[in-house]
Amino acid sequence: MSLPLELVREIIHLLLFFPPPSRSTPDDIDCAVKPTWDTINALSLTTRSFRPLALEAWFRTLYIDSPENLIFLRDSGWFPELGSKWTKHLHCVQSFSKTISFWNLSTFLRVSSIDWTGSRVEHLDLRGWMSDPTMIHYIANTPGLGHLKTLKMVLGTMWCELCHSCRAVKFKYRPTGVVYEGGLGLPIHYARALAPLEYLEEVVIIIHIHDFGRTALGLNADSNADMNPETTPTSNTNLNPNLWSGECDNCMVTMYDDDAFREKWVASKRRVGLAFGHDGDDDDDNVRPPKLRRVEYQFYGG
Ligand SMILES: [Zn+2]
Repeated sequence: MSLPLELVREIIHLLLFFPPPSRSTPDDIDCAVKPTWDTINALSLTTRSFRPLALEAWFRTLYIDSPENLIFLRDSGWFPELGSKWTKHLHCVQSFSKTISFWNLSTFLRVSSIDWTGSRVEHLDLRGWMSDPTMIHYIANTPGLGHLKTLKMVLGTMWCELCHSCRAVKFKYRPTGVVYEGGLGLPIHYARALAPLEYLEEVVIIIHIHDFGRTALGLNADSNADMNPETTPTSNTNLNPNLWSGECDNCMVTMYDDDAFREKWVASKRRVGLAFGHDGDDDDDNVRPPKLRRVEYQFYGG
């Protein structure tokens, strides 16, 4: 007589997720906390139908202590559903090492939480991250990310500081990309949220772009400028006199018509990160990561 699979699933969960404490101390966070595989090994070998249940439960939390182990797991092909289905919680441990390690977590599609243990994460590539500044704030305040030098984020929407919301990026005349040197280019709220990252040098934001917008990067900055891509060299559609940093199509249409407002707005963006009070403005929110030297926007889709 065979047990119903739901009952087997419950048994496996009880064995794995409600075991006696295995940590030597509550603060021993660098150690894996699961029971040993022996706990469910025999059960996993009982029948062909029990094994996937055991593997799914076992890999629900994945403790990895090197990027190489992740690559091995992926390339081995032994557990094809590991990233696409099974793993919900990742615990990555960045060991002390002189070599740079790249953690590619892009194959983990169902992960809802990541624990990060390590002190020298220098390059972070986030996919599917939320564009709300509150979420950006979490990056700077995540233990282990204090030494970030480069931050790359793939975003579905972009924060617009004129309407204070996350908006789809649209242009009528699509630019190929935007690069800022010298620390400019982040939305003010992003710059403020990332300011604690004292080693951060470069931010790359990759955004999905939509068609059917009404604006161009250089909207209204020069009324004589020809922004029609059919008569304008491609490079001109990248002219960026308004220092675009996420403003949405709608706000640019409705608010940039007011030249006085637009000029004041662009001037305020030029001040981000300057020493306070030099221009008589007491806006002490104008901070940014102190070593930030390059900001790039890349566009895809559309
Ligand atoms: Zn807006």
